[in-house]
Amino acid sequence: MNPNALAIHLYSIYDDHRLDHLRPSTCRHSRLYGEVVGLVARSGGRVRIREAGRSVEGRPIPLVSFGRGERTVLLWSQMHGDEPTATLALADLLSLLAEDRGREGWLTEILKGCNVHVIPMLNPDGAERHQRHNAVGIDVNRDARSLVSPEARALFEAQRDLRPEFAFNLHDQGLGSVGTSTKATAIALLAPASEPGRRVTPVRRRAMRLASLVAGILDPIVGGRIAAWDDTYEPRAFGDLFQGSGSSTLLIESGHWAGDPEKCFIRKLNFVALLVSLHAIATDAVDEIPVERYLGIPVNGPRVFDLLLRGVEIRETGSGWSGRVDVGLSFHPPQLRRGLAEATSAVVREIGDLSRHGGLEERDGSGLSVAASSIPAGAVVPLELFEESGRRPETGARRTSWAPPVRRRDGKKPRSAVYRWRPPAGRIAGRRMPAAP
Ligand SMILES: [Zn+2]
Repeated sequence: MNPNALAIHLYSIYDDHRLDHLRPSTCRHSRLYGEVVGLVARSGGRVRIREAGRSVEGRPIPLVSFGRGERTVLLWSQMHGDEPTATLALADLLSLLAEDRGREGWLTEILKGCNVHVIPMLNPDGAERHQRHNAVGIDVNRDARSLVSPEARALFEAQRDLRPEFAFNLHDQGLGSVGTSTKATAIALLAPASEPGRRVTPVRRRAMRLASLVAGILDPIVGGRIAAWDDTYEPRAFGDLFQGSGSSTLLIESGHWAGDPEKCFIRKLNFVALLVSLHAIATDAVDEIPVERYLGIPVNGPRVFDLLLRGVEIRETGSGWSGRVDVGLSFHPPQLRRGLAEATSAVVREIGDLSRHGGLEERDGSGLSVAASSIPAGAVVPLELFEESGRRPETGARRTSWAPPVRRRDGKKPRSAVYRWRPPAGRIAGRRMPAAP
């Protein structure tokens, strides 16, 4: 099966295999660990598990393995504790693997061609707290050289002992745009540099082939919402370190999708991308993929707001002046995966002509009139400021998307109010724009 056909197939069968009960808010170590141990037990020996190490607080860091092939692959997720999307996709992937009994021929090819090792939650203490850093405040992805944290040491030793030919470094990113476009980035890719001169070594070139493959299969699904990360060399990061020590390393950053605060659709994209990649590695197809597609991907940009209101009237009460402007807002407190449904306040990022910007959520604000003094740039303001009087939310339900929702692009007048309602319990703390991966 070629990569595109496999991607379509995976896209169609995903809903039968996803672990619905695992969500970002419930993706804690004990839950995930129990889930993985159960999958291993059900797999009939197909999936193996051992401990890669222990976190600062003593939580076991599982290393899950499958396949008996020659090409060794190492994948890890959630080295930043508040970035669970790929962890959930890996759990879905392991579930499919445990349940399959030779029905899927492409999976048998992966097992024959690859020897795959997965660390599905490298920073369990951070995951417990929904925070980027580990229990003592260390950013594990800046600890690749000094190896002070046990989490970094576990990953370093796994790579040193397994000598993987390919490695996948799986993260969530803050809201970004595809280059200077108004499209929000759904997935961002990076084949990190292995030295300051950013030379394209043979090892890095192989990672670029993988990136081209992923971009090629996902691009039509997400309508071009694929970006690249800036490749400035960061010697303290694992991707850069491993790229320099023989493992072709691809960073995949889970981005955002409108109306999908739990990133269910982005999780599905991870599932598809990872399995297509493993299959291409197992069958050597990856070696034939040109790097040009990756090199042509626009770099992540700053052109998208969490919420963009078009054509809001602002009034200056002293002089009586009024005018129509666009208002770009970032939810506050900043979150990695919260949607409009859950937000109650926002930072006013920009006021004026935002015709060259986009919003993850966009609303027609022409029915709104706001005092300019109530929305100073840079201030945190309640979203109810932008509620039309008398209009209430049409639903309190959180929407989750396993497939791309249809966005209003029909030119008809959309709902004119910004809706606010009671936030659900257990909000997820995070950052809007974490430092580079
Ligand atoms: Zn990260």
